[in-house]
Amino acid sequence: MQSSGILVFVETSGGAARATSLELFGAAGAVQNALGPVTALVVGHGIAPAVEQVATLGAERVLVVDDPHCAHPVAAVMARVVLTAWDVVQPALTLLPSTTLGRDVAALVAARHGVPHFADIVSLDVTAEQFLATRPVYQSKLLTTVRASRARPAVATIRAGTYRAPEPSGQQARVEDLTVAFSPADQRARMTRMVEKPRGQVDLENAPVVVVGGRGVGGPEAFAQLAQLTELLGGALGCTRAVSDLGWRPHAEQIGQTGKQVRPRLYLGVGVSGAVQHTVGMQGSETIVVINRDPNAPLVKMADFALIADWNEVVPRLIARLRERRGR
Ligand SMILES: Cc1cc2nc3c(=O)[nH]c(=O)nc-3n(C[C@H](O)[C@H](O)[C@H](O)COP(=O)(O)OP(=O)(O)OC[C@H]3O[C@@H](n4cnc5c(N)ncnc54)[C@H](O)[C@@H]3O)c2cc1C
Repeated sequence: MQSSGILVFVETSGGAARATSLELFGAAGAVQNALGPVTALVVGHGIAPAVEQVATLGAERVLVVDDPHCAHPVAAVMARVVLTAWDVVQPALTLLPSTTLGRDVAALVAARHGVPHFADIVSLDVTAEQFLATRPVYQSKLLTTVRASRARPAVATIRAGTYRAPEPSGQQARVEDLTVAFSPADQRARMTRMVEKPRGQVDLENAPVVVVGGRGVGGPEAFAQLAQLTELLGGALGCTRAVSDLGWRPHAEQIGQTGKQVRPRLYLGVGVSGAVQHTVGMQGSETIVVINRDPNAPLVKMADFALIADWNEVVPRLIARLRERRGR
């Protein structure tokens, strides 16, 4: 059977589609004329809200796998789901988010079919003969374009924040359940514990404001003040790897090469030096503000606004001023 169309893997969390997966519909829309219709694959357990949302984002068809086996993000289980959907759709291109899960699943699916795998890409073009994907290399200092013939289907993971999720269209996709037969081998890995973020905390990857504490804040207790500032700004709190390695904050809050990618409207770095492994995770921020006592810190040079000061003098005053303005 000839491959055509695009299969979009939608990762869910707590029944809702993850924002990074919704952005894939922006990517799919950009190459749909060349490749054909979009099929969404929504996977998880108790995912009716995600299905409803995805059905209006430009896909022609939504395949739903709502199964207790898929309640947790286990790569082998999700790969079985994508392979089953692949057999049904025979897509020319399969898109997954460049999340921890998406990256694992994409590799498993591409290896199983022996097809090209474009990892963590920031743009995608399709000609009559080729896929052309661009991806950052050398800690995002360079971009490289990789090509693969269209003679075979391809799999790609897309970096968060690269494409915008489309606005809901008036059109409703056809929604169908997909049955997946899991083998014991698919279920060898089990999730034993899920550590949830505190309730009410804004999701780092989608926050309009991100306040980041670095080693320069001096200790874990400083984060109480940064949390207050974050709350007043309506944002999410992040940290550097130095901070998470010291155990001052959880790894889930780490931003950078080995942490999360953020692209907020406002990034505020407090006591952060701006090592390249950190800046690759925040360089897409619209406005960068930094508080650092070293005028030569790399992040100071990169910032739109820098306060050369001890954070202990600035942050309490910022909090007081914001409280005053918010009438709290
Ligand atoms: C393979 C690899 C992967 C990595 N991945 C990541 C990653 O994903 N994310 C990441 O963040 N890092 C990562 N790193 C680590 C990275 O190289 C840096 O070591 C780290 O980002 C530094 O963190 P920092 O800015 O908090 O600390 P530091 O570099 O120690 O900077 C502290 C800053 O605080 C300032 N400061 C000190 N006191 C004050 C004060 N009172 N008021 C104001 N400013 C003050 C100092 O001037 C300094 O600029 C990685 C490293 C490697 C090797």
